[in-house]
Amino acid sequence: MAQQLSDKRMKEIFGVDVFMGDVFANESMKDHTTLRIGGPADIYVMTKNMLSLKNLLIALKDEGIPVMPVGGGSNLLVSDEGIQGAVISTGILNHIETIEESVDEVRLFVEAGAPLQKLVNLAKAQGYRGIEGLAGIPGFMGGALWGNAGSFGQEIGDIVESVTVIDIRGNVFSIDRDNLGFGYRRSTMPEGMIVLSANVRLKKDDPREVAKRVGDFLQEKLRKQPISQFSAGCVFKNPPGAHAGRLIDEAGCKGMRRGDVEVSSLHANFFVNRGSGMASDFLGLMEEVRGRVSKAFGVELEPEIKIVGRFGSAANR
Ligand SMILES: Cc1cc2nc3c(=O)[nH]c(=O)nc-3n(C[C@H](O)[C@H](O)[C@H](O)COP(=O)(O)OP(=O)(O)OC[C@H]3O[C@@H](n4cnc5c(N)ncnc54)[C@H](O)[C@@H]3O)c2cc1C
Repeated sequence: MAQQLSDKRMKEIFGVDVFMGDVFANESMKDHTTLRIGGPADIYVMTKNMLSLKNLLIALKDEGIPVMPVGGGSNLLVSDEGIQGAVISTGILNHIETIEESVDEVRLFVEAGAPLQKLVNLAKAQGYRGIEGLAGIPGFMGGALWGNAGSFGQEIGDIVESVTVIDIRGNVFSIDRDNLGFGYRRSTMPEGMIVLSANVRLKKDDPREVAKRVGDFLQEKLRKQPISQFSAGCVFKNPPGAHAGRLIDEAGCKGMRRGDVEVSSLHANFFVNRGSGMASDFLGLMEEVRGRVSKAFGVELEPEIKIVGRFGSAANR
């Protein structure tokens, strides 16, 4: 049962003098993931400002409590046993601001908790080109940067100049794009760092053209993806030269089911939770699908979703 900790209790536990935010013990991760799957986080924190985040990180480190940042929870499979330590949401840091503008370019400061679609919508309204393909991707800027979210040939890393992060010791510093190692659905963001913000650069274009492209991409997604069902997006990465969804489909996996988790019949690389799905069902289905694709095509699919929590050897974080 989730329980909100009082400021007094926070001070007792962590010795944090200056802290503004909401802290919950045993908070169900079902309520913080688009899959609606996952056991409780020992502690779930929403900090209201940077100083509180910094103080909290220092205190958690001193106590030896592990930390995991979370954004919109739209790329996560959380264990049924939950997450050990503190899950930290940057959702309150969601500001977007123009830093500099020229005739044909704009530079923006985007905080980690800003929904990716807030940025896409701003670009659409102002006629900024470069992220139309990201239309419809849920989640926040921090999560998008961590996994270099992308679609229709565009990736968030393409527009990044630098990212500001905080480490578990509370040190804040900036990392240039060249040192972020953006690749297909990945960055080399150091483990344990929390992204605070990014500086991005976009080209100016005709707002009507940008809006049309955003609209077209969105329509295509609505047509091809089970948007109205609980999912975490694509389960597997596309192997070189192939589409994971097509391989899964051709291996005869559409509609396969474990408990309440099902391979979508609309898009085979989306597994949907029909209501009471469990992480164990999801993992079991992933293994079965991987096995079938491996047998049919000799291709070993790799997860795109982040599997987190108390999974033992299956966890990748
Ligand atoms: C319907 C649907 C469609 C989707 N379509 C796409 C698509 O087209 N393309 C695509 O790339 N993805 C897609 N996704 C997956 C997902 O939306 C993206 O990967 C998204 O960018 C994840 O952001 P998030 O904030 O939800 O991250 P989360 O799921 O919260 O976290 C993902 C990872 O990022 C880390 N993280 C989060 N915030 C921070 C931070 N501030 N600092 C450091 N690390 C952080 C987490 O620890 C975790 O490891 C889709 C998902 C759904 C449900």
